[in-house]
Amino acid sequence: MKIFVVNAGSSSLKYQLIDMDNESVLAKGLCERIGVTGAISHKSADGREYKAETPMPTHSEAFEAVVYAMMKSEAKVIDSFEEISAIGHRIVQGGAIFKGSCLVNDKVIEQISELGAMAPLHNPAHVIAIKACTETFGKKIPQVVVFDTSFHQTMPPKAYMYALPYDYYKRLDVRKYGAHGTSHHFVSDRVALLENKDKKDIKIITCHLGNGCSITAIKDGACVDTSMGFTPLDGFMMGTRSGSLDPSALTYIAEKDNLSAADINRICNKESGMLGISGVSNDNRDIAAAAESGNSRAALAIEMQRYQILKFIGSYIAAMNGVDAIAFTGGIGENDPELREYVCDNLKYMGVEIDREANKCRGKEVKISTAASGVDVFVIPTNEELAIARDTLSIISK
Ligand code: AMP
Repeated sequence: MKIFVVNAGSSSLKYQLIDMDNESVLAKGLCERIGVTGAISHKSADGREYKAETPMPTHSEAFEAVVYAMMKSEAKVIDSFEEISAIGHRIVQGGAIFKGSCLVNDKVIEQISELGAMAPLHNPAHVIAIKACTETFGKKIPQVVVFDTSFHQTMPPKAYMYALPYDYYKRLDVRKYGAHGTSHHFVSDRVALLENKDKKDIKIITCHLGNGCSITAIKDGACVDTSMGFTPLDGFMMGTRSGSLDPSALTYIAEKDNLSAADINRICNKESGMLGISGVSNDNRDIAAAAESGNSRAALAIEMQRYQILKFIGSYIAAMNGVDAIAFTGGIGENDPELREYVCDNLKYMGVEIDREANKCRGKEVKISTAASGVDVFVIPTNEELAIARDTLSIISK
């Protein structure tokens, strides 16, 4: 059974075709510059490639290009799209409406569209992609939506409420929703499996550290708190995002420099974080190289990032009254032994003991704590596409 996984942005479209019989990727690809020019790069599992520049005025033409790549190009992997059993879409914002994945229907499309007010860069693009999929693949292939936020819907009000006038929650739905839920779900399931325990019996902290970063506390098998908030800007510093800070700093800057809300949004989302502090790049590899060659702002960015991650983990240990396992994932979490060592060494008081040899791993699933460690620590490569495909399969099987 084959599931087509779609991650659509406003001008891009990432996809994978996954064979669920053995959970292997048959092909993956990316359409870029949708609405501007249009280009596709597609690769089959056996290494064949198809690349083309082709006009993509809308997502419909992008899906046409994907169908061509999958069925007719030199990197084709299927003969007909009737081989596809279902389509699974990643959706960024499910608000308080979607507590789990579900089949697409007109009402679901309308609700995702309405939630676009809280995720203007993402939800409208998802709706366009769902409609374009129906146009391209027809109504016979079921479509499922999988939300970045739904894993966090188990948070209690004391974790998701902001201490603002209550009216903003009632009238405008302003509260913490979290993000990266598919990844935290996937990684925490994997931790339970590696621990050979029921997820309900362990306290887990999952650290998704990539260009976007979030940390989640999981207790009794469910998310109890997460670092991202109303939007993925909250939490700790990321590639270009500031993470949490004193809101008065922003009102002060806005007043001093005569900036609009849109300006502040741009500054906090695109010009801050590792890029804003280092002035070098949003990419940890470039910043590490700059720090190595004596750039003090790059060194400061790295110090701040590690310290903020440590503080979040510490606060979630407090929130759960302990922790049994910590997992690192995402481009940084999977590939930065020094960051992991810093965090683990500063959790010695909790009995964390890192195996320095095992911690040298990059991009592989490895237990990096010693047998004597009071807390098990893992590196677990995330696989959001597979998590979406699994959810999609489970929904269409019901
Ligand atoms: P992601 O958004 O999950 O793709 O992660 C992107 C981040 O992972 C960037 O900051 C990269 O610098 C970082 N990253 C990827 N590979 C490595 C590596 N080998 N060493 C250190 N950081 C890495």
